[in-house]
Amino acid sequence: MGARMRAHDWSRSPLGPLEAWPAPLRMTVSLMLNSAFPMFIAWGQELGFIYNDAYAEILGNKHPAALGCPFGVIWSEIWSDINPLIQRAMAGEATFSADLPLRMMRRGQYEDTWFTFSYSPVREEDGRVAGMFCCCVETTAGVRSQAELAELNIDLERQVAERSRERDRLWRNTQDIQVIIDGAGVFHAVNPAFTAILGWTPEDVIGRPVFDFVLPDDEALTSRALEHARVESLPVVENRYRHKQGGFRWISWVAAPEAELIYASGRHITAEKEQAEALSRTEEALRQAQKMEAVGQLTGGLAHDFNNLLAGISGSLELMQTRMQQGRLTDVDRYMTAAQGAAKRAAALTHRLLAFSRRQTLDPKPTDVSRLAMGMHELIQRTVGPGILVEVVGATGAWPALVDPPQLENALLNLCINARDAMPDGGTITIETANKWMDERAARQHDMPEGQYLSLAVTDTGTGMSPEVVARAFDPFFTTKPIGEGTGLGLSMIYGFAQQSGGQVRIYSEVGQGTTVCIYLPRYYGVVEDDTAGEQIAELPRSEAGETVLIVDDEPTVRMLITDILEDLGYAAIEAGDSATGLKVLQSDVRIDLLVTDVGLPGGMNGRQMADAARNHRPDLKVLFITGYAENAILSNGTLPPGMAVLTKPFAIDNMAARIRSMIEAGLEARLQRRS
Ligand code: ADP
Ligand code: MG
Repeated sequence: MGARMRAHDWSRSPLGPLEAWPAPLRMTVSLMLNSAFPMFIAWGQELGFIYNDAYAEILGNKHPAALGCPFGVIWSEIWSDINPLIQRAMAGEATFSADLPLRMMRRGQYEDTWFTFSYSPVREEDGRVAGMFCCCVETTAGVRSQAELAELNIDLERQVAERSRERDRLWRNTQDIQVIIDGAGVFHAVNPAFTAILGWTPEDVIGRPVFDFVLPDDEALTSRALEHARVESLPVVENRYRHKQGGFRWISWVAAPEAELIYASGRHITAEKEQAEALSRTEEALRQAQKMEAVGQLTGGLAHDFNNLLAGISGSLELMQTRMQQGRLTDVDRYMTAAQGAAKRAAALTHRLLAFSRRQTLDPKPTDVSRLAMGMHELIQRTVGPGILVEVVGATGAWPALVDPPQLENALLNLCINARDAMPDGGTITIETANKWMDERAARQHDMPEGQYLSLAVTDTGTGMSPEVVARAFDPFFTTKPIGEGTGLGLSMIYGFAQQSGGQVRIYSEVGQGTTVCIYLPRYYGVVEDDTAGEQIAELPRSEAGETVLIVDDEPTVRMLITDILEDLGYAAIEAGDSATGLKVLQSDVRIDLLVTDVGLPGGMNGRQMADAARNHRPDLKVLFITGYAENAILSNGTLPPGMAVLTKPFAIDNMAARIRSMIEAGLEARLQRRS
């Protein structure tokens, strides 16, 4: 613009020739030309226009013709807007205008523009205002975008309003419950469906916690759900709400947190629930009926078996009596053997029932299971018949297991009989032992504690089992065998025994291929003693002089029987019929070398409690519990303190005598040791 000004012919302009410009004008012009900020000067009576490069852009196509022209001619279209401000400047007053809207014509058409600018008076040397100076910036773009933003904002607000109207409509019209609660579960709002379904009005519930309305049984679940929904969206949760008029309704909830609150939506599902429950009740009733039928079958069979055995016993006794009266004593032995055999079988029968009810008294001992299996090889082979090959494979270095050996033998025999039944045309039975280390994953998979186990597996090459049969095989009374052949108790008994032994049992089977049933038993950390020596008692042990045994049992015949045995062996026997009497004897100074007691006793204490109480007074007291069944818990599930032992009814006399002898001797030894 400097060059343009120097080249301009000023003679015809209202400003007059350049050389004649007064000093203030020159100075202002020079300041303006040196600035990058848009500026102009209007000078003299007609306000001749001078501007810099930055301002030329604002002029659009009015540049360059505008140079030296009168201000009012150049900006005629906005003159009415700016003239009052110009007049104030020319009167000596500086002004500042921000974002002033101006409708101007600078590119062949009208456009809306906005400007921020200041007008300042410029004085001659004598102080008169001879012109004005403007510093300006176009703010059109800024103003426009602000306007757009404002519009957007309005639109957004409209949308939000629409959305909340919609939510409101939904809130009012939906069939589903809608509630807003806070993190503590206190109601902030409930919709009309809430009242329709549950009877409670907003006034009833707002400000109260949901727990005032949820059934007590569902409180824990609801509180967990609440905790969850505080943080993130809740997957479906079902609970029961009390109805205002009594009863309850099932509600299925989904919920999500939003700004410290929880928005939950609930579907009323009582009808669905009732249908499902009715169905499962029918199923349960059916199962129950099947079970009852099976129980009926079983008890019928048992009664029959017992009758036979009783007939054998009482018949033998009768015959014994007759023969004794006749003096034909040689025949007595035969009947005695027959009666004892029948009694043994009856005992075995009750044992099976108790095992199945998992109430048998187990006597776990460190056991070499491979040796036990080898020892049964011949018996098993005889039982399954010559059509089946029986192999026993004992792992070398197999760990000992802690288990009740006779029960394990029983289980093994049962598995082999099942295998035989599955191979009517013959085949092979393989009995194998192995060490198994159950890591955490395997343990979880087998549903047993992590650790080391000894496994005993029986594999056959028989019919195999379908998955449905595998799923039910452990159920008591489940059998696929014809009536009279299968009781359905074999595997359930083995299951109960394995569980009670701290182990597990698993079936691996494929139809047409065969079956493996594997029993896992907890490893025993120690060495198994060879106790075969103790088993044979050639002669019944005789007592030392004065050794006394206290017998506590409420059954007089049992008491009499034991007393007779003891006295035969040379022991002094004291009898008591209940725990109170027993304890009185125990708390006296009478010599007692051993207490033999039933577990279930009248007199306010059971046998175990009585023995524990007596030990306060006689810490070394030896105790032998004799028990029929069901008293495992009382006897600490087979883990008794030292000096206490269990004998299961019915017991063989020689067995009992041996136990009594060994317990008394152990007691004497301990006392002697302490003395020395
Ligand atoms: P039971 O032998 O009296 O039927 P169990 O409890 O011993 O009762 O067995 C239940 C059922 O499991 C059997 O009836 C049979 O269907 C199935 N089962 C058991 N062991 C085997 C096996 N080794 N092979 C095929 N099926 C078997
Ligand atoms: Mg069976």
